[in-house]
Parts: sequence; structure tokens; C-alpha cells
Amino acid sequence: MDKNLTGLLFIICGPSGVGKGTVIRHLKKKYPWFKYPISHTTREIRPGEKDGEVYHFISREEFEKGIKEGKFLEWARVHETNYYGTLKKPIIEALKAGEVIVREVDVQGAHSMKKVVPAKNLVTIFLKAESKEKLLSRIAKRGELPQAEIRRRMRSAEREMDQADDFNYQVWNLQDQIRKCVGDVKKIIEAELKKAGLSA
Ligand code: 5GP
Repeated sequence: MDKNLTGLLFIICGPSGVGKGTVIRHLKKKYPWFKYPISHTTREIRPGEKDGEVYHFISREEFEKGIKEGKFLEWARVHETNYYGTLKKPIIEALKAGEVIVREVDVQGAHSMKKVVPAKNLVTIFLKAESKEKLLSRIAKRGELPQAEIRRRMRSAEREMDQADDFNYQVWNLQDQIRKCVGDVKKIIEAELKKAGLSA
């Protein structure tokens, strides 16, 4: 990838139920001018979700065509089932234009990003929960996932938590302390923007 990119890509990662979506919703309010690219996925749309908000929901065939055509900057099969992927074009364009981008991906996606995005343009943040039990209760509270899917997500959570050390930053999201977690993420963002010569 072009070495003269001036933007900054923040990757938010962490196990299912840790609160990545909530953190990103807070960031959207605080930094509405950042770019929050939409990913593509083959998973089913859930009640309350809208196509084009966080994801474009596409078929497996369309996704595999996108892979063959090299449209994804990174893609992965997450929780042993569905495909998820970030499009290349919007990310590269934003990085060239000196924009700040925030996207959540799974651990495999974060590893792939590290291979293709120059380190000076990439900041990886891993959100941690206090225990597997807390994650499980948060996933169960969503209420819309079948038991087999919850089990798959817990297996992924164990694998993901083992890789927290591979990230630039680790941030706790403890029960009922979302404000503290969001505050910690904002501090990281502002310090990194300063370092990169970009302003918040
Ligand atoms: P969910 O189905 O709960 O929305 O997301 C499942 C997992 O997929 C989460 O860990 C989420 O971070 C991850 N994910 C979301 N978008 C992407 C993406 O574009 N690429 C990759 N690799 N993972 C993603």
C-alpha cells in the first residue's frame, strides 16, 4: 500500500458482547466528522438493524465474487460461519485524504489489516471484559441469537482474548463502566491524532 498515506485507521476489536458497537456509537457522537465505513457480511439481518447502517447484508455468492475481484482490504469467516469484510476503496481513499477512520473487525481482520496498512496509519485497540460469564450474560441479553450461535461466539471469545497482547492498546470495559471505557478510548484517539499531526 502507498507509503505516503496521511490518515489514521483505528481498529476496534474484542470478543462478542464486550461493547464494541456501544463504544463506536459514542465515538460517532463525539467525532461526527470521522469516517465510519460500512462492512459487508453474509450473516442474517437482525431485528432493529438496517442495511447500510453498520453492514451491507449480501449473499455468500456476492461476497465470494468480491473476494475474487480483490474488493476487500480484509475479510474473514467469523464465529466459524459467516463472512465479514471491509472494502478496500473507501479505506484507501480516506487514508489518502488524511481522514480519520474507525471500524470494528474481528481479531483475524485486525491481523490482516496489520499486513496491508502501514503501521504509522494504523492503531489497534482491544476491548476486554472482566470474565467470560459477563460476556455470556451480555450476549444472552441481546436475546436474538440461537444457542448454537452463542456457543460459537463464546469459542471465538476465548481465542480472541488470548490474542489481546498483539494490539497497540488494551482497554477494559467493565460492567456498568461504559463511560470510563469510552473515555479511555477517546484519550487514546486524541493522543494518536496529536502524534500523527491530525487534530481532533
Ligand atoms: P456481529 O455479527 O455481532 O455484528 O459481528 C460479529 C463479529 O464480526 C464481531 O467480532 C465484529 O467485530 C466482526 N466484524 C464486523 N465487521 C467486520 C469486518 O468488516 N471484518 C472482519 N474481519 N470482522 C468484522
